[in-house]
Amino acid sequence: MDILTGLIIWAAQALTLCALLFVQWMHRRDQMFFLSWSVGFGLFGTALILTGLRGQIPDFISIEIANTMALASVGVIVAGMQQFDGRRVDPYVAIPALIWVGGMLLPFVREDFASRVILYHVAACIGYTMLIALLLRHGERSKWVRRILAGIFGVHIVASLLTAAVTATAAATSFSNVPSPSLILLPGAFCFVAMVLTGAQMLTDRSEQKLKDLALTDPLTGVLNRRGLIGDFHRLQQEDRPDKPLIALLQFDLDNFKQVNDRYGHQAGDTVLVAFSQLAALSFRGRGSFGRMGGEEFASILRVADLVEAASIAEGLRMTLALQTINSNGHQIAVTASSGIALQPSVTANLDALLSAADRALYTAKNAGRNCSAIDKDGTPCIVPSASMLSQKAMTLELHADEQVNALRRVTAIASV
Ligand code: GH3
Ligand code: MG
Ligand code: MG
Repeated sequence: MDILTGLIIWAAQALTLCALLFVQWMHRRDQMFFLSWSVGFGLFGTALILTGLRGQIPDFISIEIANTMALASVGVIVAGMQQFDGRRVDPYVAIPALIWVGGMLLPFVREDFASRVILYHVAACIGYTMLIALLLRHGERSKWVRRILAGIFGVHIVASLLTAAVTATAAATSFSNVPSPSLILLPGAFCFVAMVLTGAQMLTDRSEQKLKDLALTDPLTGVLNRRGLIGDFHRLQQEDRPDKPLIALLQFDLDNFKQVNDRYGHQAGDTVLVAFSQLAALSFRGRGSFGRMGGEEFASILRVADLVEAASIAEGLRMTLALQTINSNGHQIAVTASSGIALQPSVTANLDALLSAADRALYTAKNAGRNCSAIDKDGTPCIVPSASMLSQKAMTLELHADEQVNALRRVTAIASV
């Protein structure tokens, strides 16, 4: 096969991919990497056609412009990879194309075929190195596929540098007297196909992960749903944490929530659910899992050292909620929550038993007048003494928390006698 036919087949593949990726982007406008990759393959396919037309169109277009486009395509594909990983696009993606443009300003490079081939391949290898770094450094998903793709680009780098070396040593003056023109095309074409296959696998993995995430997430609040929380319970139970031998289930139920709906409307009720979820997610970040069990009931699962730690975390969130109002359409809505707490040694913990113990404790908290926490102590729910009952409301949260811990210590001392 002659070099021109090879280039045209390759260009057709690249332009088909460009169109397919563009259609994908039309359907999912928020996923910008589809657009970047579409532009990248479009530039690459066009560059191949312009290169194939050498001799029939001005050299400036088939050499300077075509190679600038090909190297820009590498940069745009790197940018797409950054977007795929949810990162910001760095300006350094322009480096491969800029190296080529800079080299073309030097007459001895511009006029010499071998120098141009070397310059092109060195610039392209810099782009491939960026892709390898991104593939290996980031990405939780598709670890193996990413490693394979990084390996393919590694092969591409070696082939490119070999091509540059052969062209230089053979002192070639055009494609027609390069010792083996297929050496220039084959590695690139091979890597192109391998890249498309592995890229498709990465997209599949990503879609599967998104579906899994969706199945475990509550659509209104964005926190975990019941199924997600159950999954996290098993994960947390298996964590080797000798410093935190207990697993705690903290249930939260918004107080008189029906009245919020009745007074301000269902939409405002939804706003309250979202606001509470955000507050809770923030307060449990790095400590454990938080999610919505259903309706206005939420739960957190975390590893703790003792009962005092579990109770003060639950009380911390309850008090933070009680001290603020939630804005919905100009209405300042005051909401409180009650909490039921249950603990078990993590090695023998049973989720059903924890759930019913926390439920019983929650029932006790509701019966005690709401806006308080109750803890299940060996089957007997008892109310956690509230610092806010003891102190003035104007006190700072930190002071509340300090008093809280002291009050809790007193309770545990009494309870363990
Ligand atoms: P209590 O203090 O005893 O918990 O009283 P409550 O009114 O909070 O409890 P109840 O179980 O009687 O009412 C819960 C209400 O939560 C009823 C239901 O309309 C509302 N709710 C459940 N899911 C949603 C939701 O997704 N959005 C809104 N806005 N309301 C919801
Ligand atoms: Mg409620
Ligand atoms: Mg309820």
